[in-house]
Amino acid sequence: MIVLESYAQMRAYVDAQKEKSSKIAFVPTMGALHEGHLSLIDVAKRHADITVCSIFVNPTQFNDSKDLEKYPRTLERDGELLKNRGCDVLFAPSVEEMYPAGDTEWSIDLGKLDKIWEGEHRPGHFQGVTQIVYKLFRLVRPDVAVFGQKDYQQVMVIKKMVELKNLSVEIITVPTERELGGLARSSRNSRLSAEGRVEASVIFKALNDIKFGLHHRALGELKDQAMTYISNHQGFEVEYLAICDADTLEEKEAYEEGGKYVAIIAVWYEGVRLIDNLVFN
Ligand code: AMP
Repeated sequence: MIVLESYAQMRAYVDAQKEKSSKIAFVPTMGALHEGHLSLIDVAKRHADITVCSIFVNPTQFNDSKDLEKYPRTLERDGELLKNRGCDVLFAPSVEEMYPAGDTEWSIDLGKLDKIWEGEHRPGHFQGVTQIVYKLFRLVRPDVAVFGQKDYQQVMVIKKMVELKNLSVEIITVPTERELGGLARSSRNSRLSAEGRVEASVIFKALNDIKFGLHHRALGELKDQAMTYISNHQGFEVEYLAICDADTLEEKEAYEEGGKYVAIIAVWYEGVRLIDNLVFN
């Protein structure tokens, strides 16, 4: 596996690959890699000749400076994991490489996606995400880019950006990898205590209770029940929970046969913000 740190090196590498008509798959990450990220690498490898993974903790998508400071950084270990998984290139630039002129102006009209759920609770987050992903797409020029369903709204945002900017990259979504108890794998899980990591499986349980209660109860009732279930566990604070149309993220009042739904949730526990979702028909 090749490790590249500068913009210029990455550009030269991509130019050489394009010359050979190699198909490039790209997996952007913020590092502290786990099995969820590595499952994206597996999928990427099946779709292209060359798989590029980036590791960059992007400051512009953090609306909370403490969160940015505490974000786990394990570059050496990440490199080993990627190499063992058959990744071809690791791109690990510095902040100065990605933002040589400081945090430049960026604004994209994401419409409602920027104002609801994650957009509402993390103001500016999706502007920062699109800013960096656009920069990386322009540099890596991937044929396909692979993202996790774990960040459901993020995938919608990326697809919207690709459409607005007329980019010719195919976006592939990969199902969420979970720990044994059901907690969605996340780099932030390393900040939970060992017991907390087990306890936090209540989030996935609550989402499943919604899924399996769908035919028996009104959506409002299911949501209230799930909120109560989680809040009854000490230390958990639900930031939002909603049962939405899976294509628009509009909250639904009633279940309609044949509809596609997604239950989305953000929870605070042991000072860590955890998000998850479950899609069901
Ligand atoms: P991050 O490093 O958290 O920015 O995530 C990088 C990519 O990995 C994003 O596309 C995430 O959606 C994806 N990802 C994170 N956690 C998981 C998971 N548990 N399962 C599958 N994909 C994930």
